[in-house]
Amino acid sequence: QVHGAPDFLSALNPEQRAAVETTEGPVLVLAGAGTGKTRVLTARIAHILAQGLARPHQILAVTFTNKAAREMKARIAALIGDGEGMGWLGTFHAISTKILRRHAELAGLKSNFTILDTDDQMRLLKQVIKAENIDEKRWTARTLAYLIDNWKNRGLAPKNVPAGEAAAFANGRGGELYALYQERLKILNAADFGDLLLEALRVLRENPDVLREYQQRFKYILVDEYQDTNAVQYLWLRLLAQRTDPAIKPNLCCVGDDDQSIYGWRGADVDNILRFEKDFPGAKVVRLERNYRSTGHILATAAHLIAHNRDRLGKTLFTDGEDGEKPEVSGVWDSEEEARVVGEEIEQLQHKGHSLDEVAILVRASFQMREFEERFITLGLPYKVIGGPRFYERLEIRDALAYLRCTAQPADDLAFERIVNTPKRGLGDASLQILHDFARLQHIPLMQAARILVETEEVKPKQRSTLRALLKDFERWAGEIGQKPHHELAEQILEESGYTDFWKQEKSVEAEGRLENLKELVRSMEEFPDLGSFLEHVSLVMDVDNADGGERVSIMTLHGAKGLEFESVFLPGWEEGLFPHQRSLDENGRAGLEEERRLAYVGVTRARRRAKIYFATNRRIHGLWQTTTPSRFLDDLPADHVLVTESRGSGSGYGAYAQSRFANIDSFGSRYDTPGWKRAQAHGAKGAQDSGGRGPLTIEGEVLGKTSPGGSFAPGDRVFHLKFGPGSVAGVDGSKLTIDFDKAGRKLVLDSFVEQKSS
Ligand code: ATP
Ligand code: MG
Repeated sequence: QVHGAPDFLSALNPEQRAAVETTEGPVLVLAGAGTGKTRVLTARIAHILAQGLARPHQILAVTFTNKAAREMKARIAALIGDGEGMGWLGTFHAISTKILRRHAELAGLKSNFTILDTDDQMRLLKQVIKAENIDEKRWTARTLAYLIDNWKNRGLAPKNVPAGEAAAFANGRGGELYALYQERLKILNAADFGDLLLEALRVLRENPDVLREYQQRFKYILVDEYQDTNAVQYLWLRLLAQRTDPAIKPNLCCVGDDDQSIYGWRGADVDNILRFEKDFPGAKVVRLERNYRSTGHILATAAHLIAHNRDRLGKTLFTDGEDGEKPEVSGVWDSEEEARVVGEEIEQLQHKGHSLDEVAILVRASFQMREFEERFITLGLPYKVIGGPRFYERLEIRDALAYLRCTAQPADDLAFERIVNTPKRGLGDASLQILHDFARLQHIPLMQAARILVETEEVKPKQRSTLRALLKDFERWAGEIGQKPHHELAEQILEESGYTDFWKQEKSVEAEGRLENLKELVRSMEEFPDLGSFLEHVSLVMDVDNADGGERVSIMTLHGAKGLEFESVFLPGWEEGLFPHQRSLDENGRAGLEEERRLAYVGVTRARRRAKIYFATNRRIHGLWQTTTPSRFLDDLPADHVLVTESRGSGSGYGAYAQSRFANIDSFGSRYDTPGWKRAQAHGAKGAQDSGGRGPLTIEGEVLGKTSPGGSFAPGDRVFHLKFGPGSVAGVDGSKLTIDFDKAGRKLVLDSFVEQKSS
């Protein structure tokens, strides 16, 4: 660099550059969306390294997602030719996990401790509640989980829980149960998500030498998306940033935007921004006002929208760029038309040469994704779901599909394996092993094998009657195919099998989402003429291979889109109840509404050149068509900067609706032409194998090797049975043998499991 500054500095405006070059002392960058906050952080790291002020492992940099961390590493590598060694660049959780593993023994754990997921956590809490003889109907694990999470987010250990709050659960036993739960975690050598930070914080607090080690190590600390830090994250940061000599100011640089605080429901506290100057006296506060991301109309729309919030610091934003296209608001008939219209728009963009990587669909709730996924598959438009599995790959959807497949296709072994003990029915590995051995030996499907087995005593009486009942259920359900609407049958199957109840009992927020998805599944079936066509369609959908590295449309939630940007952004479902979401309004009133509006602001400001907003006039909720009210956020948009097209296509909602109906009947027709069951089954089977941790049982031939094929038994033969031992054949009825066992007495067994004793 002959002419002074390196590229990563000269590419910055003066305010950004000040934030980068003020390396010593606390710095707060408080600025709106797209003003280059993340760019400042990246440049700052490059600058620190280039100046030799610190080595990569001496920089602690916190991003909001793992994806953001990877991107930042890549960008640093691009700027200075090396992103390696940034071992402390990651999310709060990743970094505190790393610290905790290094000092696990100080937290009463081993360094290989397990991190519990929500389901495990709920199970454990249930055990704790039960063990204390507390009425778990009245005091649910879900409520306790919520309380504990909340305490952890606020950095409160059991002993520090305010008495008033502990009193709110099980007649004052909240704190005690929290303590018991923590004890159980330690015994299991496990930590839940909230522990990662809290325990790391405790280790630092209680071990001054450890704390000093990290304080000395981290010469520079940087935090992105600072508005979404919660109390425990804040305490953790403050502790690490402190210097032993109070005269030395911490080199802490935080960047954030109060208007993008969207995790209040998870305990994030936007006040951390306001506290910054107080906690870090002499902090340099930098404001960035020039937006580099979005064109004029988009920026004006976003600014006008967020101005309707009362709780905000307020800031100016401007762009030197062109006005560009006005954001467009369109009414559509229903979610199906919404997906169709968005699909068309994206195809047009594609034809004009736009990259699909530059297109995103941002939804408020994950169930909205299904319709888009289906449409894109029909169109052959490549897409990816960011931050979660695709709709049909979700655990609950795979389980539900397995029930439907077993009903329609009794020979579908993978489906049967998947649900035979889901929900738990006490059909453990031992019974399944017998079932498998027999089916394999006879070359018959599992369900058929089960039908024969339940007539014998190979399986214990209790399991036998459970299995028998399940087979009866499937017979009954199969008998109803064609007798009643298939989506009603599906609902009935999920109810009667106990599957819906299984999730209802979970009572976690996550389980609620799963129940919502199951409803969406049943709803989606109505579009198909029968169960067979539906299953056929699903197997084709599942087969869409997204593995190649081609360009793809991104589908994600608004929460997941924070910090990202796309040339074109589609924002569907702007209807009251969905967005703003009813739950936020019910639970948090005006604060909830303002958080929803910030989410809308985040959505619009992801767009560089194109933002398209949709609302559907009708949405089916719980199986019933409901007329919706357009989102109040639409009234918050500036008329001068947005283009409102009342409805797509024929101009009236109804006309567009009729058109979409016909269009879809057409395309569905061709979808059903695709060849039949063999293929569906093969695809389905592949799908089931990919499932999350509940794959098919693999049974090796060891046991089988010892048995000889049946068929040659006669009364009086001495035989040996793998489970019941030696005995004599008393009767033969086809493949079933009555045997008087020396120890176990008379039993009806299958010849496949019996070995002729060589005399
Ligand atoms: P958000 O609040 O959404 O996280 P942000 O403030 O972090 O946004 P960045 O993502 O850093 O903003 O920047 C937005 C866009 O503007 C990026 O494409 C970035 O490369 C570009 N940009 C930022 N600063 C400049 C600059 N000085 N010159 C040119 N482009 C810039
Ligand atoms: Mg950013």
